Amino acid sequence: MPGAHVKTASTAGKRRTAGIGPARRIAEELRAQNERFAAAVENMSHGLCMFDADERMIICNHNYLDIFSLDAKVVKPGIPFFDILQHSVDIGIASQSASELYAIRKPYIDGAKASTYEEVLSDGRIIVISHQPIAVGGWVSIYEDVTEERRAEAELREQHRRFDAALANMSQGLLMYSAAGRLIVRNQRFLDLCNAKASDFTLGMTHRQMLDKLIRLGIFAPLEIDVEVGKTMASLDAGQSRSSYRELVDGRTLFVQRRPLAGGGWVATFEDVTERRRTEERMTHLAHHDTLTSLPNRSMFREKLDQALGEAKPLAILSLDLDRFKAVNDTFGHPAGDWLLKCVAKRLQHAVRSSKDVVARFGGDEFAIIQSGIKNAADAEQLAKRIVEIVGKPYRDKGREMHVGVSLGIALYPGDGHDADTLLTNADMALYRGKSEGRNVYRFFEPGMDALMRERRALEADLEAALSRREFELDFQPILDIGSGRIVGAEALMRWRSPSRGLVSPENFIAVAEETGLIVQLGDWALRKACNVAANWPPDMRMAVNVSAAQIKSGGFARSVIAALAFSGLPANRLELEITETVMMDESDAVLKTLSQLRGLGVRIALDDFGTGYSSLGYLRRFPVDKIKIDRSFTSDLDKRDTAAIVRTVIGLGAELGITVTAEGVETEAQLDMLRKAGCGEAQGYLIGVPAKAAEVNRLLRAQALLRQSG
Ligand code: C2E
Ligand code: MG
Ligand code: MG
Repeated sequence: MPGAHVKTASTAGKRRTAGIGPARRIAEELRAQNERFAAAVENMSHGLCMFDADERMIICNHNYLDIFSLDAKVVKPGIPFFDILQHSVDIGIASQSASELYAIRKPYIDGAKASTYEEVLSDGRIIVISHQPIAVGGWVSIYEDVTEERRAEAELREQHRRFDAALANMSQGLLMYSAAGRLIVRNQRFLDLCNAKASDFTLGMTHRQMLDKLIRLGIFAPLEIDVEVGKTMASLDAGQSRSSYRELVDGRTLFVQRRPLAGGGWVATFEDVTERRRTEERMTHLAHHDTLTSLPNRSMFREKLDQALGEAKPLAILSLDLDRFKAVNDTFGHPAGDWLLKCVAKRLQHAVRSSKDVVARFGGDEFAIIQSGIKNAADAEQLAKRIVEIVGKPYRDKGREMHVGVSLGIALYPGDGHDADTLLTNADMALYRGKSEGRNVYRFFEPGMDALMRERRALEADLEAALSRREFELDFQPILDIGSGRIVGAEALMRWRSPSRGLVSPENFIAVAEETGLIVQLGDWALRKACNVAANWPPDMRMAVNVSAAQIKSGGFARSVIAALAFSGLPANRLELEITETVMMDESDAVLKTLSQLRGLGVRIALDDFGTGYSSLGYLRRFPVDKIKIDRSFTSDLDKRDTAAIVRTVIGLGAELGITVTAEGVETEAQLDMLRKAGCGEAQGYLIGVPAKAAEVNRLLRAQALLRQSG
């Protein structure tokens, strides 16, 4: 009902005039006009209040009363403006006193200008008041409660602030494109990442323009813009994200992700992943490389080998193992050993010619090489020779000189196998063979080597069991004093009487026993047995026992020698320990200490197989020995002038140093004659006597004693 809450002053009633005619019609019209006016006022969405020149209210609407929670019974047409203010104070809605409020309003009321001001109510609501003077006096005020609107605005502002803060503080660069494909958001981080200015990338630019600019500024490397845009658009159109790594011209890597937005358009983020990438690369490097030498490790080698085999071109696998590396470690310490391994790694890398070749370290002193692009076995052989030569050269560090050698096994693809496993195993097999035959060699894989390998494993197992089964024996070979023509000693030589293999030569089992470590027990047994036998011999008879490097290094060697002497009752000076160069080569103080300790007890030390190593003379300087045994290869070559000269020199040297010289392998009278003339002290060989059982040697010694008595 229009006017239900509208209070109007009944001006029409006051000015009621007589006469119907036009006056009534006018009155009618006025009434109708008033009603329309009242209805319009009532239906306004804002509060409205009209005052006359006397500051009395003419009309107000319900919204006005609602905004100020005014009582309709109090606020009625005719009420002075001040009373309304007082009423609002009375009901507690105003935040100031009526006179204060009035003082604020008064200038507006008196002014002739339209104006707008705000009033904050006691409950915090904000009311915007538009003040409009009326020409005939009085004014109209329109009231609007903008609390909700202001709150929403503030919230939006806050949201913007947060969004801006988030954008500015993102570690990622961000670009947002509108549905029309134009740049609408770009954060500072994006500019920082690109070392660019804000003016380089202005809002409104398209994806294509952005790419073009990035390339022209030298940030991105040139790329096919059409292709790139096409790819991005295709995935965005399909509602999918697209991510890619972008290598920057300055070497950095950005991770770029583009995600479609719900309302069209997309967001692209840019993340600097340079460090992460480097770390990842470092991690994969670590996983695939040997930390000491930085060479590829076994897993990387396998990967590369599989790759190379995929090309189906001939190649060679070289399996390498250093010789005498352990001695370097023991003598100079692990830091020196590490240093040497690094040198070896460098030399190996230098030795391979092609950059496609792979040098890897499998651990310890084991290396492996893939030699690709070979034409035939000769190419691999050439490389192997080169490596033996290069690795074998001395290593000098801090005034020290170290020596190692290298042995190689070679397997060829496709001849020796088609897959990585077979090729590696076969190369190892060839290496193994090479090692068992001597050091500093290379060997090609041959079919049948695997059979040899199996045979070797079986030998190891048999040998292990042989000691407890008492399958070992000692033979004794007499040693002749050339001057007096008398037997002055014998050498104990080990024999293995295997039920399945027959009589096995020490040449065929000593090395294996050394490698498996069995030699320590076996050597101990030989020592005791030999001492026991010698204890029953005449007092001028010496017993020579062969000793392996592994025995001396094992630790308890001196103790076991002393025990053998004590149990047998053999005087120490009747025991002679035959050592080879490999013992001296060890160079470790512990070994030399052990030997000199024994020598201090009177035990004699003989240097066996003299002349077969390459620096035999050098070892004489390192450790004083009591005897030199010239290897039988010299004796058999005595008829050659050079050899004879060498032998004479060694004999002369021995005389000079007070060292007994014994010639091994004397088989002929002519040889013995020459040795005698050269002044050689002792001889050993088939001519004097073959290795024989103790009983036989005893017989020989008895015969000699009888001969002497009768002679
Ligand atoms: P070795 O110490 O140089 O021993 C001499 C080797 O030459 C012996 O071989 C002996 O039978 C052989 N021989 C002696 N006279 C002649 C000759 O006139 N002509 C020829 N062609 N050969 C002769 P065997 O008994 O086969 O021993 C081989 C090697 O095995 C020994 O060489 C020694 O190094 C090692 N060995 C033997 N017994 C032991 C042992 O108990 N312990 C250790 N660690 N090694 C041993
Ligand atoms: Mg010997
Ligand atoms: Mg010898």
